[in-house]
Amino acid sequence: MNFETKVLHAGIEPDPSTGAIMTPIFQTSTYVQAAPGDHKGFEYSRTHNPTRDVLQNNLAALEQTQHALCFSTGMGAIDACVKLLSPGDHVVSTNDLYGGTYRLFTKIFEPLGIQFTFVDMTHAENVVAAMQPNTKMIWVETPTNPMVRIIDIEAMVAIGKNANALVAVDNTFASPYLQNPAVLGADIVMHSVTKYINGHSDVVMGALCINDTALRDRLAFIQNSCGATPGPQDSFLVLRGIKTLHIRMQRHCENGAKIAHWLRQHPKVGVVHWPGFEDHAGHAIAKKQMKDFGGMMSFTLKNDSIEAAFTFLRNTHLFSLAESLGGVESLVGHPASMTHASIPREQRMAGGLLDSLIRLSVGLEHVDDLIADLEHALSKV
Ligand SMILES: *Cc1c(COP(=O)(O)O)cnc(C)c1O
Repeated sequence: MNFETKVLHAGIEPDPSTGAIMTPIFQTSTYVQAAPGDHKGFEYSRTHNPTRDVLQNNLAALEQTQHALCFSTGMGAIDACVKLLSPGDHVVSTNDLYGGTYRLFTKIFEPLGIQFTFVDMTHAENVVAAMQPNTKMIWVETPTNPMVRIIDIEAMVAIGKNANALVAVDNTFASPYLQNPAVLGADIVMHSVTKYINGHSDVVMGALCINDTALRDRLAFIQNSCGATPGPQDSFLVLRGIKTLHIRMQRHCENGAKIAHWLRQHPKVGVVHWPGFEDHAGHAIAKKQMKDFGGMMSFTLKNDSIEAAFTFLRNTHLFSLAESLGGVESLVGHPASMTHASIPREQRMAGGLLDSLIRLSVGLEHVDDLIADLEHALSKV
């Protein structure tokens, strides 16, 4: 089945009792048993819920994995992955990591005895150098946030296999439409479903997609034991959002490409970070592992100052200033004062995250209207 057909049909059957074409919202916490242990496969909704099960099966099909597990948030999904490890284990990850993941790793799990090393994963030799005898997991995120760098998933998988370490890829920025890390050998594909997969800025959810059944069972045990599971209403909304994922992604990419090229020729714009440019450091790898280049980008202003960035941000109207990304409406963010404010300025600057860096999540509005909005805001800088 092709992706466009899977979003509508994979794992989704009309309701057997009524023929309802849409998956019912099984808004129930428990299920009646005829006799102790005599039930229809459902006992309690933390463990199983029919609406969630359909979503999990659909997500597995989209990532081309055997299994998927949904969590109440993306962070809940990442938390479950780290709980596969024990004190004394070591994780290698990227230095351009989602802030919430960095916080979970360093503020929650490091004090519990799990060790982390953060390196520039765009150079595989840095990852090789960071590997230790106790390295049990490589945590990858590509494209990265907010620098939109590209990490070679196959190279990370080769290092992980060689060291008997699990390779997990946060695939949130790409979505399963653009990139399928498990097909490239990753053990775990993680999503903040909140972003492109749901796409309508009305649900917070996470997911893990896995091939290995023993690994799936360990993660399902953690999912049920720790309890960060999503409710049936949210599962329904995500199933609904997914029905247009392929069409949304196509338009995100189309609008993204036009805006990236437009920004690049603008006299007030400094550098534009977008992997579709042939001179982007990760362009060749992006071409190899992604179907298209996505709608996420960041850029700096020639006048590189917080003040200039704030002037710009006060003057966009269609691009709303907000955290999050991947929704139908365009969003703009200022990493230096928002998502990455906790990183010391020198460290931030060294990584290319300048004071004026502005991140765009390009939505589905008409691209001419979006460009007019950016032009207006730039004219005020
Ligand atoms: C948003 C996000 C997360 C966290 O997901 P939540 O659903 O907000 O808990 C993790 N990784 C990336 C790349 C994200 O953008």
